[in-house]
Amino acid sequence: MAGKRGHAIVLGGSLGGILAARVLSESYDKVTVFDRDVLPTEAVNRKGIPHGAHPHGLLARGRQVLEELFPGFTADLTARGGTPVDLQRDFVWINDGHRLLRAESGLQGLAVSRPALESYLRGRILSLPNIEIEAGHEALGLLTSADRAKVSGVRVRPVDGGEEREARADLVVDATGRGNRGPTWLAAIGHEKPAEDRIESGMNYLTREFRRAEGDADFGGAVISPWPDLRRGGVAVATEGDRWTVTLIGVGDEVPPTDTEGYLAYAKSLAGEEIHDLLSKAEPLTPPLRMRLPVSVRRRYERLVSPPEGFLAFGDAICSFNPAYGQGMTVAASEAIVLRDCLRTGRPQDLARRFFAGAAKLIDVPWNIAVGADLRYPEVDGPRNATTGFLNGYVARVHRAALTYPPAGRAFLAVANLTAPPTRLFSPGILLRVLWSTRPSVRHGRTPVA
Ligand SMILES: Cc1cc2nc3c(=O)[nH]c(=O)nc-3n(C[C@H](O)[C@H](O)[C@H](O)COP(=O)(O)OP(=O)(O)OC[C@H]3O[C@@H](n4cnc5c(N)ncnc54)[C@H](O)[C@@H]3O)c2cc1C
Repeated sequence: MAGKRGHAIVLGGSLGGILAARVLSESYDKVTVFDRDVLPTEAVNRKGIPHGAHPHGLLARGRQVLEELFPGFTADLTARGGTPVDLQRDFVWINDGHRLLRAESGLQGLAVSRPALESYLRGRILSLPNIEIEAGHEALGLLTSADRAKVSGVRVRPVDGGEEREARADLVVDATGRGNRGPTWLAAIGHEKPAEDRIESGMNYLTREFRRAEGDADFGGAVISPWPDLRRGGVAVATEGDRWTVTLIGVGDEVPPTDTEGYLAYAKSLAGEEIHDLLSKAEPLTPPLRMRLPVSVRRRYERLVSPPEGFLAFGDAICSFNPAYGQGMTVAASEAIVLRDCLRTGRPQDLARRFFAGAAKLIDVPWNIAVGADLRYPEVDGPRNATTGFLNGYVARVHRAALTYPPAGRAFLAVANLTAPPTRLFSPGILLRVLWSTRPSVRHGRTPVA
């Protein structure tokens, strides 16, 4: 690698910002992270991450990358109360009403809360000598070179009322999340905004924590997905501190109720009994917390005719998904590897073009999975074609095959966990089984494990 490249600024000090800073620290002399929140050192929720209180499953690919970038990651978080899980053996999955048969898969995830992940990873980057975090600083916009061809820094303001100031940098990375203003900032300095793909998916979440007791469940997590015939779902994940973080999900007009009786009745109406069984005996630790996610957005930076030099977007600032498949953090982690590879080879002048192209290629798969699932709801607007219909029909048959045939479940989970390409679902063994599988759907209610 050539010598280091000066100063990089990362806007946003959450998962995406931490990952970007970690890989930038290999190639830049100094990395400064600005976040508008005052960042806690403990594993607690904070204002800038309203989604942090909701369950955040870390998929197999995400855990792999975090282990590579932060050696000892899994052992350290396990020591802090996280639960390592085999995602097929230790998780209950009920997809479209079909219970995936549990079996050893080798897909290693980690059940831990989002604040625990973030505080641990932030501690790790703070131990690197060339990264500093300026918390309590809001980014307001970008600075540009005289010819406007290059982003040359940012305008920031302390949130405690101090003066706005300019911070110069050779590279600015926007990791300010789902509601970021990166495109507007680019337009303000005379650059094209990226096109956006938007899917109005309309998901309602209601999350509550419960005490976890020894032996109260034979799983580390349960995911009961909603689908067009039953727009209700639920997620339960074992988290550190002997807790269950449990979310009830409703699609569109389905909104989980907060009163105890209604909440339990809603849980009972799901396509599997596990979450209801857990809730009916566990002690609640927090009040129910609502969140509505109306839309998934993908910003097509890779299509900009001339992306400005010195500016990247990262994590949810590029693409914020419907979290149904829990892929956001894993995508951010995978983008970190793309960024690291782009920094190690190629010309710095076309870093933006190379990074956005690599990130787009990696985002294609999880975006298509999430959007494909959303487009099954007839009221959701979006580009439907024969391929969407075929793939959704095929995946539904994979779920059916996974009732009795563990390799089908493993193939589905490997693709959803981003450890295998979608073609894995069409490998000869799976294809044959899917075609052979004429078993009638067993949906809604107590689906038998065959
Ligand atoms: C309900 C829900 C459930 C989810 N479940 C999962 C899951 O199970 N698994 C999974 O992998 N992913 C899940 N996700 C997605 C995951 O949360 C995101 O993909 C991930 O947090 C991306 O992180 P990010 O750092 O890009 O953005 P964010 O986490 O949104 O962080 C943005 C950061 O930028 C800061 N910021 C914002 N604006 C400014 C500004 N102007 N100046 C300075 N700082 C600023 C904020 O304070 C924050 O720290 C879920 C998301 C939601 C909403």
